[in-house]
Amino acid sequence: MSPPPAVESQVQALTDLYNSIQNARHHPRDLLKTSIAPNPLPLTHPSLLLYSQQLKDIAHTLRSDAVQSALRAAKESEKADGQNIMNNVRRENRKRRRPPSPESPQPYTVIERQSSSLFPVTKDDVAPLKSLELIEYIRQFNKKNSSYKLGIWQGTRSSTRDLKNPAILRFTIKDVLTAYLTVSYTSNDLVLLVESVTTFGPRERKLPHSQSDYSVYRMLSQEFGRMIHSDPQVGLQKFMTLLCSYENMFTMRCDKCQRVLCVEGHVAAVERVWNESDGQWQPRHVSC
Ligand SMILES: [Zn+2]
Repeated sequence: MSPPPAVESQVQALTDLYNSIQNARHHPRDLLKTSIAPNPLPLTHPSLLLYSQQLKDIAHTLRSDAVQSALRAAKESEKADGQNIMNNVRRENRKRRRPPSPESPQPYTVIERQSSSLFPVTKDDVAPLKSLELIEYIRQFNKKNSSYKLGIWQGTRSSTRDLKNPAILRFTIKDVLTAYLTVSYTSNDLVLLVESVTTFGPRERKLPHSQSDYSVYRMLSQEFGRMIHSDPQVGLQKFMTLLCSYENMFTMRCDKCQRVLCVEGHVAAVERVWNESDGQWQPRHVSC
């Protein structure tokens, strides 16, 4: 007989938590590999910030109602009958990889999973831009905005006018930043997907695949990486709304602490959080 669904969802909540902790345990080793020994990484280093975010997420999950009630239920169950308890996480993971057999009625109560995308879904959403529409999009974009400039970056003097795949776009906000976006598409649907973004100071002369000399722009590149990771299918137009929200990057206040620079590290608010009620990206410090 299959156990009641509530138990299944509790087991799943705890298995998910266990897996994210296991996942996080790999990170310090990765960080050690990338750091230049014997110099310790500064606390504001992007990979450390990402790791700290991951730990914050775990703490958040740990405190959630789903996990807390599962832990309480497990404790009570152990008190009632503590015999033959083994660590079954591996079995749970194997079980989850197997598709449910058709005859078993609804084997799992699916825990409500919110979409991990940090981008908004609005009623004004348009179909994601396709490669053939890029040139016209750039033309319209530059016509509408005088403080921003978008273009296709050509590394070498190219004889062909065809769009490369992947292509690199160069986006600038005067006196604020230069961003290089690597975009690519597949021959199936031709939709342009943003693969990565690197940002630099407005007067830095650097190649798209290099790194800024300034920590704030390195953090910003990391932040864009986090946003792309949350929704790899996000359309270019929606991604551009995020980029444009950095126009007043060095003067806007964090929506949490209301400061321009954060207390620790004196860094501008490089994180963006979508605010549903006023339909805008709000600045936030990574540490807030
Ligand atoms: Zn703040």
